[in-house]
Amino acid sequence: MSRHDAFKKRGLTDDQNSYYIARKRMIEEQLKPAIRDPLVIEAMSKVPRHKFIEGALVDQAYSDYPLNIGEGQTISQPLIVAMMTEALQLKGTEKVLEIGTGSGYQTAILCELAKHVYSVERIGKLSNRARRVLYDLSYVNFTLRVGDGTNGWSEAAPFDRIIVTAGAPAIPKPLLMQLADGGMLVIPVGNEESQMLKIVTKEGASYREKDVSGCRFVKLIGEYGWRVE
Ligand code: SAM
Repeated sequence: MSRHDAFKKRGLTDDQNSYYIARKRMIEEQLKPAIRDPLVIEAMSKVPRHKFIEGALVDQAYSDYPLNIGEGQTISQPLIVAMMTEALQLKGTEKVLEIGTGSGYQTAILCELAKHVYSVERIGKLSNRARRVLYDLSYVNFTLRVGDGTNGWSEAAPFDRIIVTAGAPAIPKPLLMQLADGGMLVIPVGNEESQMLKIVTKEGASYREKDVSGCRFVKLIGEYGWRVE
């Protein structure tokens, strides 16, 4: 049976078939050369990234660059999503806080790999859209909130992992305070043009910081981030 016939048999349309092939290519060409964690590869093979992108850009969903998601925001490039997720070293038992829900794609990857994901987005329209897509894909282990994520989510703290998907001028103090002992924070820190992706690990009363790689994100706007333009 040809691959096309196999798809037909499983009730997949030609459209879904072509997204499946594009996703496979993304995994082989963009992710496998750089990503070691097989669980991250598996999660990114599973989540249909094209569902998180709307309109004319949907056909570029699996391309090696960030895409516009409206409201002046972006969905990060697949490799950046994979690198940040790998840096979190998830085992499936963690309570994770994500700052910057955006399209909800990174949230879905985290839902695949962690116990529960709390995600904050400052733009209500993006959060509502992300919630719809995540429910459509049958995810249930997440809680979304609209607000300033630089303040964290104190009622749900402490978190085993925190991931910030927007560039910060400095590490927001509330996020450090809301990390569990042994917990890790992954965050891009720098100026408006470029940032360094950092991993901060909490060890008792102290914090160990490690630089991972240069990156470029939209701005983290809020009380402990950049001020509103
Ligand atoms: N993780 C997202 C995804 O998979 O689509 C990409 C996020 S996009 C690069 C960064 C997001 O952070 C934007 O949606 C932006 O509105 C949001 N953001 C910026 N500052 C924020 C803040 N203080 N609190 C919550 N969200 C914030």
